[in-house]
Amino acid sequence: MGSGSSRAPNSPTPHPPSGPGAADGAAAAPGAAVATHCPYCALQCGTRLHPGAGPEEPLRVEPDAGFPVNRGGLCQKGWTAPAVLRAPDRLRTPLVRGRDGLLAPAGWDTALDAVAARLAEIRAAHGPDAVAVFGGGGLTNEKAYLLGKFARVALGTRMIDYNGRFCMSSAAAAGIAAFGLDRGLPFPVTDLGEADTVLLAGANPAETMPPLMRHLNKAGALVVVDPRRTATAERAALHLAPAPGTDLALALGLLHIAVTEGLVDEEYVRARTAGFDAAWRHAAGWWPERVELVTGVPADAQREAVRLLSGARRAYVLTGRGAEQHSKGTDTVAAFVNVALALGLPGRPGSGYGCLTGQGNGQGGREHGQKADQLPGYRHLTDPAARAHVAEVWGVAPESLPGPGLSAAELLDALGTAGGPRALLVFGSNPVVSAPDAARVQRRLAELDLLVVADFVPSETATMADVVLPVTQWAEEEGTLTNLEGRVLRRHRALSPPEGVRDDLAVLRELAVRLGEPPDRFPADPRRVFDELRRASRGGPADYSGISYARLDAGEALHWPCPEAPDGAAPHPGTPRLFLDRFAHEDGRARFQDVDHREPADARDDRFPLWATTGRQLQHYQSGAQTRRVPELVRAAPEATVELHPDTAARAGLAEGELARVRSARGAVLARVRLVATLRTDTVFLPFHFPGHGRANLLTGTALDPRSRMPEFKVSAVRVEPVEVLETAVPEPAVRSAAG
Ligand code: SF4
Repeated sequence: MGSGSSRAPNSPTPHPPSGPGAADGAAAAPGAAVATHCPYCALQCGTRLHPGAGPEEPLRVEPDAGFPVNRGGLCQKGWTAPAVLRAPDRLRTPLVRGRDGLLAPAGWDTALDAVAARLAEIRAAHGPDAVAVFGGGGLTNEKAYLLGKFARVALGTRMIDYNGRFCMSSAAAAGIAAFGLDRGLPFPVTDLGEADTVLLAGANPAETMPPLMRHLNKAGALVVVDPRRTATAERAALHLAPAPGTDLALALGLLHIAVTEGLVDEEYVRARTAGFDAAWRHAAGWWPERVELVTGVPADAQREAVRLLSGARRAYVLTGRGAEQHSKGTDTVAAFVNVALALGLPGRPGSGYGCLTGQGNGQGGREHGQKADQLPGYRHLTDPAARAHVAEVWGVAPESLPGPGLSAAELLDALGTAGGPRALLVFGSNPVVSAPDAARVQRRLAELDLLVVADFVPSETATMADVVLPVTQWAEEEGTLTNLEGRVLRRHRALSPPEGVRDDLAVLRELAVRLGEPPDRFPADPRRVFDELRRASRGGPADYSGISYARLDAGEALHWPCPEAPDGAAPHPGTPRLFLDRFAHEDGRARFQDVDHREPADARDDRFPLWATTGRQLQHYQSGAQTRRVPELVRAAPEATVELHPDTAARAGLAEGELARVRSARGAVLARVRLVATLRTDTVFLPFHFPGHGRANLLTGTALDPRSRMPEFKVSAVRVEPVEVLETAVPEPAVRSAAG
């Protein structure tokens, strides 16, 4: 953990106050700019939102030059984020599906009464686990916290998980196993600019979080591991392009080279780690030429990567979704962590290992209880002491708290099946587009007795719901988020929400009260919820107890853990840099992990001879429910595309701009061909932001990582063919019955 004795390297980064434009609960004075953060990715760029003097005035956002993470930079998504606030199809009233099968406007009381009544009926008939909850990595800490409490106390269900399971869970599992604690970056982003070498495995920040490149561009050599020659790889000193699904073999090979070339930091390994011998037993079999055969990465390039890392005074190994989203994602990340440990990087000032968390509150979202196996403060649900602590804060008996439930993909796959959940409440997620094997998920949702979706636009999942509840967006609400470096940030209300729209916290409270909970147990004021979260997290791995809205509003840079100081003592300064003296395992040592390569769940054959890999593109974010409503972004990236090497396209009889059908064993996608001469000839790439027949997740499968339960988004066996006859790839969802 972080060291109180290492104040100099661990001192917080100063930055200007990001105070509110108005008191909590009230919008800013007309026209006054409000300091806040971009609503999209985990970089959480600092912004100032100019709300305009009236509802017809244009909204304008500008970067906050004083915020160290983005230093005045924003990407296209950040610049255009205000457009979603006034999306023409913004939800402004609850919708309830009638007996005619159509969604129709309803009053809040009607909608909430209907939901609560159906939930009570379903629980009475089938038990508490018949009701499931699905959250999101974009929800504020307060919402994630209250959602977990709502599921476990008001519903009493084990069945809660969230879409962050699809993003960061493999790095989280690997980080906990290696270091005893999972914080995406255990150091501030700004440290990266001081590095001599950064190895980036499976991330493309030049497109997904461009302001991060301000730091990486200042670093020395950038080594990029990615099957595609991405915009980030273009800027790298060295690009290693392994075949999809072989990153683990490559990482084992890098460890092999470090050992056989005498580059291991033996003093560090002896003093600060355990388990090297077991890890080496597998890596010993991965000599460079064998790795080249499996991955396609030349042996000399492997050696060069290790020399660049080991020869650096300051070096970092970073992983992203490319390493994580596999049925062996945890082991793949662990293998890269092994390389970092062998070279003595983690916990050394100016060096380290980190994961580039993706979603806006991907870090905080996995800390406060919406994950199937966790309680607030990153506590484990099966730990009796954790259960007792949280139960006391919640005013319930520890034994009343249900145990762990199903992970996201398993939960979605159980919906509507015999013994599975009969009702689902979705907050801040759009699984019809973002979940693996999306057609199957769509069929499962159609089998439910009750689907309730809280959202601010009619997402693809919302349009299937029995009840749609219109909720606030980022600029209309107060709260906190935790960015990829574990820094807790304030979100400030700049605008009043449209009439008829409610905050998610208020929705949860209203439902809880209707389900018989005392009103005091479910506060709807974000400050009160945060204060309760602080108490629930006290003493846990992610301890927020010393963080307050007042400290954040005063401009303090607070990274967790930040425990509450004893009476009379100075407030804890937070922990920007973890592990400087010891890791979080009881003995203070990091653990090498004993991992070996294995094949993806899919196998290529004559029917499906190519690998499809999925990812993000510059203009869009996640399922695209927000960014597909921004005209400027849609003009630049209007539809689903498939990138192919020109030779691959020629073999399939396809040319630039034509419509292609990409087919896997699960389904088929229609996408516009883009020829990319730098792509591997065995690989095609599809962004996953698009709906309908353009959904890349119609191709992906539900093979899961055994430890993190991460689906295998990055490797699917496919074929590509011209579209001669349009066919319906996915049946339309069944018409749903009335909720009441
Ligand atoms: Fe927003 Fe991320 Fe772009 Fe920054 S990099 S502006 S946080 S989407």
